[in-house]
Amino acid sequence: MQTIYNTLSRLKEPLKPIVPGRVSMYVCGPTVYDYFHIGNARTFTVFDMVYRWLTASGYRVDYARNVTDIDDKIIERANANGEPIGALTERMTAAMHEDFDRLKLLRPTFEPRATQHVAGMLDIIRMLEDKGIAYRAPNGDVYYAVRKFAGYGKLSRKNPDDLIAGERVAVDTNKRDPLDFALWKAAKPQEPHWPSLFGNGRPGWHIECSAMCRAVLGETLDIHGGGWDLQFPHHENEIAQSEGALGHAFVNLWMHAAFLNFDSEKMSKSLGNFFTIREVLNKLNPVRGGEEVRFFLLRGHYRSEINYTYDTLMDAANALMGIYRVLKDVPPAQGIVLDWAHPLAARFKAAMDDDFDTPAAFAVLFELRDEVRRSGDAHLSALLKALGGMIGLLQADPAAFVSGAEASINVQALVDERNAAKKAKDFARADAIRKDLDAMGIVLEDKPGGVTEWRKK
Ligand code: AMP
Ligand code: ZN
Repeated sequence: MQTIYNTLSRLKEPLKPIVPGRVSMYVCGPTVYDYFHIGNARTFTVFDMVYRWLTASGYRVDYARNVTDIDDKIIERANANGEPIGALTERMTAAMHEDFDRLKLLRPTFEPRATQHVAGMLDIIRMLEDKGIAYRAPNGDVYYAVRKFAGYGKLSRKNPDDLIAGERVAVDTNKRDPLDFALWKAAKPQEPHWPSLFGNGRPGWHIECSAMCRAVLGETLDIHGGGWDLQFPHHENEIAQSEGALGHAFVNLWMHAAFLNFDSEKMSKSLGNFFTIREVLNKLNPVRGGEEVRFFLLRGHYRSEINYTYDTLMDAANALMGIYRVLKDVPPAQGIVLDWAHPLAARFKAAMDDDFDTPAAFAVLFELRDEVRRSGDAHLSALLKALGGMIGLLQADPAAFVSGAEASINVQALVDERNAAKKAKDFARADAIRKDLDAMGIVLEDKPGGVTEWRKK
């Protein structure tokens, strides 16, 4: 029986799908205005793991991960680039697919785009207005009256009174209460807008998810997920909107993935301490990099923070290489049906069923690795490969994976990047790359004519 930690109850609860055998899962997807960083990748890799494991467990999983393609940041960026909004969001959605494919994330069953669900958003806003929960402000915006929803704060365990006292909320004469949030923003020049019974405007961010959940999965979901930071206000507001309008439970299980940190601080665009997925992958061996990052991201429990450093990534890469070496030396037997009665398979399943305890599941993979190495048993090797496959690992050709094992980083890409930095007179960056390489045991020698050679120390 699958159990899942529910942020709403703060307890592990059994998964009891509303429709037996079918699980509906919605994950708040990316806002497509820039490349994604390795912290974003953690959250989406965690839910890919959940999707794969529930599917492997026999459920039909209807998995929706939206694309937020209208938002302040998108408008700002498109204006700064002098680019139409649609061109920016198309470009960034394509880049997202490229990056996610490299990380072996399966495409979700549904990938709704906010701009295609504006009618559904307006429908919910109208219901809220009819019930007296939403109101039109003098400036043409429509707000959600937080005090009208008794359950406000139940997910994040925040009390509206404390919110007022605890936070400095800017005075906005359009809002009746500083806690209220925008459902619909009146049209401004230079901004895209849609016609509506509230006048021309565009949706607020929170209403997008309430409408897309309802449109693609229905009014009550089995699982709703996102990164840790989305609990408040985003998910709190989603609950207020959906339950306020529709009058029944919105989500049975709330799941939140903990952050990936860099230098003990959360990796984020606004802090500037981020590495994009492609930046990281381009420095890794093209055959292995995607799976190495995936292995690194899943090795920690999804509710524990993980720290990204070159060393922790390489440590994961080495562990993965160790497994692939064994798969190469002891080729998995073909045509084997996975035997869940095998004690190690049963332990793997028990770990994954226990709130997706990947550290315990990985421990089983390492035990199997040792067992296969010791026994040379092709059936056990097949079991190792099959269990890894349940969470998107160990499916590459072992010979290809292991070949070129020496260069676990893509040194040439770093050398090229350093030379480009030098050319652009970004000497700080060029020096930093030289230092990084030095730390990895790679020495550079600049030859006449701008050629750089490298060798191992
Ligand atoms: P954003 O583009 O900031 O809206 O983030 C998209 C998704 O990535 C959300 O689910 C965030 O919670 C998640 N996220 C952002 N930063 C991190 C991080 N450092 N570690 C894990 N997840 C993150
Ligand atoms: Zn959302």
